[in-house]
Amino acid sequence: MQGISDKTAVVTGAGSGIGRASAERFAAEGANVVIADVVADTGRETVDIIEDAGGDAVFVEVDVSDPDSVEEMVDTAVETYGGLDFAHNNAGILTGFARVTDIEDGQWDRLLDINLKGIWNCMKAELPVMADEGGAAIVNTASEAGLVGMGGLASYSASKHGVVGLTKTVALEYASRGVRVNAIAPGPTETNIQANSGGGNTDPTEFEFDTSAMVDVPMGRGATADEMAGVVAFLCSDDASYITGHTLPVDGGQAAD
Ligand code: NAD
Repeated sequence: MQGISDKTAVVTGAGSGIGRASAERFAAEGANVVIADVVADTGRETVDIIEDAGGDAVFVEVDVSDPDSVEEMVDTAVETYGGLDFAHNNAGILTGFARVTDIEDGQWDRLLDINLKGIWNCMKAELPVMADEGGAAIVNTASEAGLVGMGGLASYSASKHGVVGLTKTVALEYASRGVRVNAIAPGPTETNIQANSGGGNTDPTEFEFDTSAMVDVPMGRGATADEMAGVVAFLCSDDASYITGHTLPVDGGQAAD
């Protein structure tokens, strides 16, 4: 893809799933990649994978719900590679299925802090570095649950609808300042987080893919993380130079149903 080589990208949640695939894709396209994750072991594994393939990456431990930590992530990009061109703000969690009245305050707050406030924290830190340089792009990971309601996922769906609204608004604010801002809305994707939605456990690194979520996909299967990574790369590339403010469903046809 044109326009990615020799640029710098930061990917949050890059230790696993969609984030790791996105980081690998940025590196394969010739970008330097800042691998940001709250889990250091898996984040460093992603760096190893990229370096073994001949790419350039650096790890930074970040909790996206903590603004100071996110500032350090952006500082790492600037200090290591001299700037920041692309951001895939992707880190997110599920806390398991529960009726809205059964969600505990702490669970609600934690999920919103990571999935929605985390994206705000990231864009607040990234935009001052990216604005007015030209050719910059942000891709936020929303979800199909950010476009329609999903029973049992009230806090998750609320957070992802918030990501869609935030994406549109920031796109308007930076359209004339050289930063395009879009989101992807993945359908069920083969990562550890999917099984997490059935288990109620909050550790996103422990689970296998739950195939029951594939039932309502017109294409009859879940996505691979690589299928998300390709769309993220496209949205950052020169081929998407006139696209901003959109949330692109990458969902095997779910949004058409
Ligand atoms: P995953 O669990 O494989 O990866 C998520 C990564 O985010 C993990 O490496 C985890 O350590 C990291 N993370 C969690 N909390 C963090 C925090 N506070 N700070 C920094 N990093 C943190 O899951 P995934 O499926 O790859 O999820 C990536 C994104 O895709 C999430 O935003 C998720 O909501 C979204 N999504 C996933 C699916 C799916 O079916 N897998 C569908 C729609 C949307």
